[in-house]
Amino acid sequence: MTLYINTPLLRSQSNSVRLGKTVWLKMEGLQPSGSFKLRGISHACTWHMERGAKHFISSSGGNAGMAVAYCGRVLGLPVTVVVPESTSARARALIELEGASLVVHGKSWAEANAYAMSLLTEHTAFIHPFDDALLWEGHATLIDEVAQAGVRPGAVLLSVGGGGLLCGVLEGMTRNGWGDVPVVAVETEGAASYSASIAVGKPVSLPEITSIATSLGARSPCQQAVDWAKRHPIRSVVVSDAAAVAACLRLLDEHRVLVEPACGATLAALDHDISELNAAEDVLVVVCGGASSTVADLLAWQRT
Ligand SMILES: *Cc1c(COP(=O)(O)O)cnc(C)c1O
Repeated sequence: MTLYINTPLLRSQSNSVRLGKTVWLKMEGLQPSGSFKLRGISHACTWHMERGAKHFISSSGGNAGMAVAYCGRVLGLPVTVVVPESTSARARALIELEGASLVVHGKSWAEANAYAMSLLTEHTAFIHPFDDALLWEGHATLIDEVAQAGVRPGAVLLSVGGGGLLCGVLEGMTRNGWGDVPVVAVETEGAASYSASIAVGKPVSLPEITSIATSLGARSPCQQAVDWAKRHPIRSVVVSDAAAVAACLRLLDEHRVLVEPACGATLAALDHDISELNAAEDVLVVVCGGASSTVADLLAWQRT
């Protein structure tokens, strides 16, 4: 059973005219759980269920937790999502809307995660938000769909948090013969752990996350994401929160689709002077989505 959908690939007329090149948008925010995460997480959940898992556990209050909750409901297995007290009311409500048990524990994600780990038994599967080869294999299907549509872009843009999306997209690019196509990996200021890590060639940990793009807020990226930069052309770009929010509002006006700043960051990078983009005749933007921000949130951020 496939739990994710084959998302639309839009040729964005507004972006194409503005940039003087063809801009393709892969609309991952239209996945039923609100983000690309459903691809990899549904693959991991199905894999574990086939091997006897009776219960899924997540410690993500963001789009990963929502995707696990969605999978559990559709597969008919219970889900527990453990989140810290800082998790927003909206995120809690979205997880509960999918029928998952929400447990609020601790002040930080580390405390919530430790508690989630203590709940593991022989028949539970812990679903990591980004550092899992099963997730990457699932995320890779988004590139298969683009290749099947007959598109081979001159550059691929995407957002990086913990690097699961990056690893999956690169796996898909490699298996579709796109090994020479550069990737532009985008983060926001205050969440730029990938940029800091590839600069030194190993994962480094940020002391704190200060960006509003909380879905990019992994303090350190996974090892595999850092290793990819040694064998594939990857350009790291860091944009401001303000630019990310403005890009979300522009997408909303131009394409009538709401996404989080974590996704707006990549759309904002389209307007940066980046040699890999300048050299490309057509570019693929992974519109990763995100269900955590409302229009009111975007407008409030725009004012500050
Ligand atoms: C999780 C997420 C990201 C970052 O993905 P990683 O796999 O952690 O790099 C970006 N945008 C959205 C909307 C997300 O949910």
